[in-house]
Amino acid sequence: MKVGTNTVVTIDYQLLDASGALLEEEQGIAYLHGGHGGLLPVLEAAMEGAAVGQEVRARIEPDDGFGHHDENAIRTEPRSAFPPDVKVGMQFAGSPDGSDDMSVYTVREVSEDAVVVDGNHPLAGQTVEFVVTVRGLRKATEEEVAHGHAHGPGGHHH
Ligand code: ZN
Repeated sequence: MKVGTNTVVTIDYQLLDASGALLEEEQGIAYLHGGHGGLLPVLEAAMEGAAVGQEVRARIEPDDGFGHHDENAIRTEPRSAFPPDVKVGMQFAGSPDGSDDMSVYTVREVSEDAVVVDGNHPLAGQTVEFVVTVRGLRKATEEEVAHGHAHGPGGHHH
């Protein structure tokens, strides 16, 4: 069996930065392959046809992954809009224009009357590489295809 449309793929992955340093790693993640948004599209394309035990590497440019650094996503907000204990590094979900389009903002600076928040993804502007090892493959159930995600170990639990 190989990775293809509507297979449930169990993977281990490492995420490396452009210099090869480890940013993140996870084991035993299950996703539904075939354009359901389980992985970045470029990574899914690289996974197509892989077999159990195979290692797949995919380099992700900012356009295909976490986006470019956007100066406009760095905003200065009144201190009064934040909890009293606001600290650098805290994260808040919000939408700059009051729409339903929520982003995660990370606090960069706190002064007496203002807080600077940054809505860029932490990996924005970076070229990264995923190193994925295929650990398991099975055909998705009809229910998984209908839901658009994998169930069971490493997947969604309802
Ligand atoms: Zn489900």
